[in-house]
Amino acid sequence: MLVNYVIDFSEGSKEQSDLLGGKGSNLAEMTKLKLPVPTGFTITTEACLDYLKQKEQMSDELNLEIRQHIESMEKRTKKRLGDAVDPLLVSVRSGSKFSMPGMMDTILNLGLNDETVLGLTQKTGDARFAYDCYRRLLQMFGDVVCGIDKNRFEEQLDFYKSKKGYQSDIEMQAEDWQELVAVYKNIFLEVTHQAFPQDPYEQLQLAVEAVFRSWNNRRAITYRRLHDISDSLGTAVNIQEMVFGNFGLDSGTGVAFTRNPATGEKGIFGEFLLNAQGEDVVAGIRTPQPISKLESLMPEVYQEFLTLSHLLERHYKDMQDIEFTIENRQLYLLQTRNGKRTAKSAFKVCIQLVEEGIISKAEAIQRINPTMVTQLLHPVFELDQLKNAEVFATGLPASPGAASGNIYFTAERAKQASEQGEKVILIRQETSPEDIEGMVVSEAIVTSRGGMTSHAAVVARGMGVCCVAGCEEIYVDEFLEQATAGGITLHQGDVVSVDGTTGTIYRGDIPYVEGDEWQLLETITNWAKEEATIGVKANAETPADIKTALKLGAEGIGLARTEHMFFGEERIFEMRKMILAESEDALMAPLNQLKEFQKEDFRTMFTLLNGKACTIRLLDPPLHEFLPQTEAEITHLADATQRTVGEIKHRIEELHEQNPMLGHRGCRLAVTTPQIYEMQVAAIIESALEVAQKGKDLTIIPEIMIPLIGSQEEMRWLRERLDQTIQTIFSEKNQVISYKIGTMLEIPRACLTAEKIAEVADFFSFGTNDLTQLTYGFSRDDSGKFIGAYQQKQLLKEDPFQHIDEEGVGALMRIAVDKIKHFDPSIKIGVCGEVGGDPQSIRFLKKIGVDYISCSPYRVPAAILTIAQEK
Ligand code: ADP
Ligand code: MG
Ligand code: MG
Repeated sequence: MLVNYVIDFSEGSKEQSDLLGGKGSNLAEMTKLKLPVPTGFTITTEACLDYLKQKEQMSDELNLEIRQHIESMEKRTKKRLGDAVDPLLVSVRSGSKFSMPGMMDTILNLGLNDETVLGLTQKTGDARFAYDCYRRLLQMFGDVVCGIDKNRFEEQLDFYKSKKGYQSDIEMQAEDWQELVAVYKNIFLEVTHQAFPQDPYEQLQLAVEAVFRSWNNRRAITYRRLHDISDSLGTAVNIQEMVFGNFGLDSGTGVAFTRNPATGEKGIFGEFLLNAQGEDVVAGIRTPQPISKLESLMPEVYQEFLTLSHLLERHYKDMQDIEFTIENRQLYLLQTRNGKRTAKSAFKVCIQLVEEGIISKAEAIQRINPTMVTQLLHPVFELDQLKNAEVFATGLPASPGAASGNIYFTAERAKQASEQGEKVILIRQETSPEDIEGMVVSEAIVTSRGGMTSHAAVVARGMGVCCVAGCEEIYVDEFLEQATAGGITLHQGDVVSVDGTTGTIYRGDIPYVEGDEWQLLETITNWAKEEATIGVKANAETPADIKTALKLGAEGIGLARTEHMFFGEERIFEMRKMILAESEDALMAPLNQLKEFQKEDFRTMFTLLNGKACTIRLLDPPLHEFLPQTEAEITHLADATQRTVGEIKHRIEELHEQNPMLGHRGCRLAVTTPQIYEMQVAAIIESALEVAQKGKDLTIIPEIMIPLIGSQEEMRWLRERLDQTIQTIFSEKNQVISYKIGTMLEIPRACLTAEKIAEVADFFSFGTNDLTQLTYGFSRDDSGKFIGAYQQKQLLKEDPFQHIDEEGVGALMRIAVDKIKHFDPSIKIGVCGEVGGDPQSIRFLKKIGVDYISCSPYRVPAAILTIAQEK
């Protein structure tokens, strides 16, 4: 049987991330490119899955294959695993297909034991170094393989240092590490009742098994759930020769991005630590130096690093996140991957890569996740509010944005508070993967230690959450749940505001405004429009919303809800007068007044739209929504209409409906009182004529949309009247204009008889909110009370008001589209419900053949992108 259990770095390539994991496939790719990568091999995800399937038993075949690969490594390195004179030391590194930062575990310096540590001492002439490596192995092995709490080791180290009066690890001497190694070995005995395994092959097997098993640890599962990563992928394990960044001051280790992951700015961006190993940089144990510092310390290494990172970026055609180690001024690359970044950085980098000719516009569009658009328009604090704000502390601007909330010091507390509906800010010394559940519920994350690539920073940027890292001036006491800086102590629950863009933490609650990166968005949206095959319009009627919609790329207005225009104080008053009218004469006065208001609005709309499409929906909601609610309003209305309060109340009662959403609303209002729609249509046409006359060459084609049509008869009757109204205006004004009269598709009957309605409608637009309500029989306004229970009991996968119900509502839509297009393929069909802005629904809507979708202005760019990405 041919199984792919172990593959040498020199045999793989970047396309094999399924089998080798992301890390392994990229190590193979870099090896293929002849870059300075320490030699090694990958134990595949298949081996992992087999192991987990075989009740966590290492097979003999796998052990044998590993042994053979170690032997071939020994030939290449001229060192031997377990050799007392010149021991081969390796790292054991997990790596699944998708990068899961810090989720799985790494062991360094494997192969050290009481004997080989002497060999390493002899060989390097540096006992301090050798024992530092050994204690790290004990610590990592203890944690990853034996599940010994990391703090057990940390406590002993801290205790030892304070006993000696040392400030930092740097002061630890060879004898100190030696003593500590003995202490650490005792911890093994105490906790596991077994000695630390001295046989390197046993160490290796235990380590590999631990990595395999870590695929199913809780934080890995949480992470996968959060990021929609399949549980059935498994992780690979990379075995690699060690290189040493902790070999004195000519050595070091670091992490760098080829472009700034927060802002997208060009140029290398990263951090390193001299005389340090492995995760010291990421873990935030010591605060690292910026990579630019390396230029002055080791110019030739820095230059080489620049060259290699440039090469990698070109090769991968994307911004890279590179881990490196320097041993005695010799540079080694230990990892590369496409760097995680903020939305702003993602947009900027994509645009740069297109400008640099590295990728095409079409490729750039594929790389932008529609949800990034939201993040791009990150909130920022109001500038003048900041002037008087009290600064609590400052740190590194690790992930942009602005947030305020109550502070909590543990993930657990943060989670509880957020479940109580609080806005939460998580403050910690440093975060680790265990904190993930607290981090996802936080508005912002603050750490007192660690750099721009620390766990907190990386995770926060990935989630688009605001983060300030490395606020060294804050003393965080996680036990007492308080944070002190500049003589001020804040306690759990106190309010702070965090500015992730500048790295400042303020006391108290500071108002913020949504951020804007319009320009970046505009570039990408324009490119996306070139690829988009169906149109995107906006649901908007106020001047502010229309301007926003156009700025964000809408090609017109797909739904202007006229009732939204009746809610001003003056207007609603006229509206009420109209509703209360008992005779035709009494009706006309307020209607004429309302007509003037409407005309004013429509003129503004048509002017702003400057010839772009505009679909205006006639009055839709039940009239009682406009009626006075309070005694004062009722009295005021009674006075103004020379009626008694009693009469008004009586009329209100008359208008009461048992089931208003199925009652006297939409086109039904116009069947009983046609004057309302006639007024609205006159206002639309007259203002269109006026604006068209002013603007030279301006063609305005108003699309008048009648809501809630259920039958051809209804539509025909209304349309004939409205056509007549319009013809009268044309002859009065001696001027004509093109216009269309269409309808919403929101009643199931309309979908089922769409080919008949099409005979008398010029266009259609699906109103998915009402259509879902009427298809499911779920009240839009009340479904919140039970949809949750349906989801919990798995009777419903998703809320059909958020994501289109493809099976039911979608089937009706398909029927309608097919019938209409069969009757006349040139009739345009749009969608203007809530799901028109939801990427998942948009993919479906595109498939069933609608011509455009219309959504709220802020969702327009994501909608355009989604459509452009669907081929
Ligand atoms: P993660 O997936 O958490 O980034 P890695 O497997 O990349 O874990 O290991 C973390 C760090 O350990 C690396 O960035 C590197 O600094 C160090 N490391 C891993 N393997 C080696 C090695 N062979 N030699 C030296 N350092 C190593
Ligand atoms: Mg790594
Ligand atoms: Mg509706």
